[in-house]
Amino acid sequence: PHVDSRAGAAVKAADRAHVFHSWSAQGLIDPLAVAGAEGSYFWDYEGNRYLDFTSGLVFTNIGYQHPKVVAAIQEQAAKLSTFAPAFAVEPRSEAARLIAERTPGDLDKIFFTNGGAEAIENAVRMARLHTGRHKVLAAYRSYHGGTTTAINLTGDPRRWASDNGTSGTVHFWAPFLYRSAFYAADEAEECARALQHLEDTIAFEGPAAIAAIVLETIPGTAGIMTPPPGYLAGVREICDRYGIVFVLDEVMAGFGRTGKWFAAEHFDVVPDLMTFAKGVNSGYVPLGGVAISGAIAETFEKRPYPGGLTYSGHPLACAAAVATIQVMEEERVVENAAHIGETVIAPGLRELAERHPSIGEIRGTGMFWALDLVKDRETREPLVPYNASGEANAPMAAFAAACKKNGLWPFVNMNRTHVVPPCNVTEAEAKEGLAALDIALSAADEHTTA
Ligand code: PLP
Repeated sequence: PHVDSRAGAAVKAADRAHVFHSWSAQGLIDPLAVAGAEGSYFWDYEGNRYLDFTSGLVFTNIGYQHPKVVAAIQEQAAKLSTFAPAFAVEPRSEAARLIAERTPGDLDKIFFTNGGAEAIENAVRMARLHTGRHKVLAAYRSYHGGTTTAINLTGDPRRWASDNGTSGTVHFWAPFLYRSAFYAADEAEECARALQHLEDTIAFEGPAAIAAIVLETIPGTAGIMTPPPGYLAGVREICDRYGIVFVLDEVMAGFGRTGKWFAAEHFDVVPDLMTFAKGVNSGYVPLGGVAISGAIAETFEKRPYPGGLTYSGHPLACAAAVATIQVMEEERVVENAAHIGETVIAPGLRELAERHPSIGEIRGTGMFWALDLVKDRETREPLVPYNASGEANAPMAAFAAACKKNGLWPFVNMNRTHVVPPCNVTEAEAKEGLAALDIALSAADEHTTA
């Protein structure tokens, strides 16, 4: 990369003067000025290049600046850069067709949004209107977005500031054997007890009041906890029994991330509504949406759906989705995610776990992995306390700094690092990232007590 410190300083100065950043104390952040990106890498103005093991915010499933997708956006911009949502336009029609062909079951109608949170907002609205009920159940250890309903469904500390108790959301514990809420000894027991807990929650909240259950198929930001066999099928059965709409949030897990087009395919379940965003077009232009079942679509055949967005199905975003899906087919990106996950990342992480006492558990599939870092493997005490900041978070900060020093940009959340590179990552890139993780984990090991 080319060095241009003056340009970098100007970008940084205007950012610090005028950009108000998400989820941050504005005076305590120090954003890196980025000069460019390509494939699995990005670089700053000082000549430092980083291997991106975060895929941005887990959205660049085909990496940065794929030439075919960039060209498709340029061509669409020259042809018809925008158009109102009430019309039928080619890129929107084509994106909807390509998405509906890949979603499971009868999820054949697509409502487009600008991102994941709006997809969740609209899925919940559809479920409430379809059932005539109001309450929505969601899991602790989840993230569903930053707008009012989506943040109230979220099961992590980001909800607290927005939760005034009026959103109609109720939280329950989903299965997570490593930190079981159910004192379960194995996956079968975790699954059975988690389903019983959900049944009990429904019984005490009032089944006739519950419009929807919203779950990430595999929870992402909260820690990549693959549900045990039978859990999602069990939730499906419970929803059917009580007339509750089952919403799967595939904003992070969808579009190849887990080594399948959608994570639901791993579990053979079909939800009533499925939300997507991020990987649908690798985030090149903002896009999200809800895939809708036949029964829910039928509710809005004769009765208007009371929701919409000026940029629903924006032509540039949809052209990017069409090109992304074509690239993913041509270059076998979904297969690559499964293959590199199984043959490079999984064995590589297992090998690291043998040598680094700070690794409590590794879990995941495809290009979707988490390392749960601990102080002590026996007690499983997290390397830093839940929601730690400042000095209490120093071990994770040291780990992240060591990654960056070795050319790896890591995804770090609480006591975890996630390995979530682009789904078209090469074997050599994956190995390069594992080697940097190896060095950084030695920094984490210093904070173990065992
Ligand atoms: N749902 C899940 C599972 C997510 O991971 C995210 C974002 O990380 C969202 C919803 C919100 O998406 P957006 O940030 O595009 O609104």
